Amino acid sequence: MQDTALYQHLLGLKAPWTVGRVALNIKEQCVEVWAEHAERVLWACPTCARELPLYDHAESRTWRHLDSCQYQTHLHARIPRVDCGEHGVVQVRVPWAAPRARFTRLFERLALDVLQQCDVTGATKILRISWDEAWGLLARAVKRGQQRKRAKAIRQIGVDEKAVAKGHRYLTLVCDLEEGTVEHIAEDRKQESLAEYYRRLAPEQLQGIEAVAMDMWPPYVQATRTWVPEAARKIVFDRFHVMSYLGKAVDTVRKQEHRELLAVGDRTLTGSKYLWLYSQENVPQTRREEFDALRCKVLKVGRAWGLKEAFRHLWEYVYPASGWKFWKRWYFWATHSRLVPMRKAAQTVWRHIDNILTYFQHPVTNAMSEGLNSKIQKIKHMACGYRNIENFKTAIYFHCGGLDLYPC
Ligand SMILES: [Zn+2]
Repeated sequence: MQDTALYQHLLGLKAPWTVGRVALNIKEQCVEVWAEHAERVLWACPTCARELPLYDHAESRTWRHLDSCQYQTHLHARIPRVDCGEHGVVQVRVPWAAPRARFTRLFERLALDVLQQCDVTGATKILRISWDEAWGLLARAVKRGQQRKRAKAIRQIGVDEKAVAKGHRYLTLVCDLEEGTVEHIAEDRKQESLAEYYRRLAPEQLQGIEAVAMDMWPPYVQATRTWVPEAARKIVFDRFHVMSYLGKAVDTVRKQEHRELLAVGDRTLTGSKYLWLYSQENVPQTRREEFDALRCKVLKVGRAWGLKEAFRHLWEYVYPASGWKFWKRWYFWATHSRLVPMRKAAQTVWRHIDNILTYFQHPVTNAMSEGLNSKIQKIKHMACGYRNIENFKTAIYFHCGGLDLYPC
C-alpha cells in the first residue's frame, strides 16, 4: 500500500477528497499530509447548501491530527470557496474538522477525553498542545454542548453560591438536583444573578419547577418570587444552611462565656471551640471523654449546643403538623433560654420557618449536589485557583454540565 493510500484510509477521506502527498520530517518528528480534491465537483454553500462550482481556494491551512505513532501528524489543505448568490464568496465545509478549528475532529475527540481525565496542565503535556489551545478546545466543546442542549423542565433546582477567590467574589450556581448537573453559572450572588437564569426559561419551564433549595439569602428569594409561579410553597431553605446558622450562634455563646470565665481565672472552655461545632455523632473518638465531661458541667454553651442539636429533629418529622408542633415547642425553649445569640437565631429561623417547613412537601437540600460540590472544589484546585473566572466557568460546565461535548 502506498503511503498516500494508507493515510487516505487512516484519515477516512472520501471523494472528492484524496491524499495527494505524504512527507515524513524526521528532524521535527512530524508526518505532513496534503489533502486534495477532484476537479469539476460541485460544492455546497455552508449556509444554504446550494450546489455551486469552485470559485477559488482559500490560503493553505493546517490541522493537527491524531499522532502517527510518536510522530505528530498535520493535515494540510486549501479549502475551496464558492460564490453563492445569496451568501457571497464563502469557504465550504471540510469533512475532517469544524469551521475555524485547528484540530481535526478525531484529534478533538481524543483531546476532550484526555481533558475529562486530567487537569489542563497534564493534558497539554500528553497532547503536546499549548495552554491556550487546551482552553480553546474546552470553550468550544462547552459552546457546542450548550447549543445542542434541549430545553426541558427541571423539577428540582438548587441555588448555591460559591466563593471564587479571596476578596469575596462569588458565583451563583443553579443545579438540577435530580440529574446532578450545573445548569447555569452567574457572577455575583445578587437578585439579578439568579433572575438571569429564570429569564431564559419558557413559561412551561418556570411552571414545571416544583422545588427550589437555597440558603436563607434574600436576593435569591426575591428573584424566585418574581419569576417562579407559586414560589412561596416551592422555596425550601437548605437544612444544612439553617443548621450552620444555629452553629454560629452556639459559637457566639461559647466566645462570650469563655471571656466571662477567663475574667475570673476559669479556663474550662479553653481549646474547646471545635468541640461545640460538632454534631453529637461527629465528635472525634479521641475527644469524646473530654466533651462528655464538659457537657456535664453547668455551662451556657452546653445548653446552646443542646438546643441546636435538638433542632435537627425537625427534619425527621413526616407530617407537617407534627413538624409545626415540634417547631413551636423548640421556639419557646430557645426564646426562653436566656441565651441572647440563641434567641436571636431562633427569631431569624422564625422569620423563615414557612420555607423551612416546605421541606415536608419537597425533601430537597443543596447537599444533594454534594458530589457536584466536591467536583467543583477539585476543579478550583486545578490550574492556579482560577484567577480567570471565564476559565473557571468553562471548566465547571465542561465537567459538571452534563453536556454532549464531542464534535459530530
Ligand atoms: Zn448560500
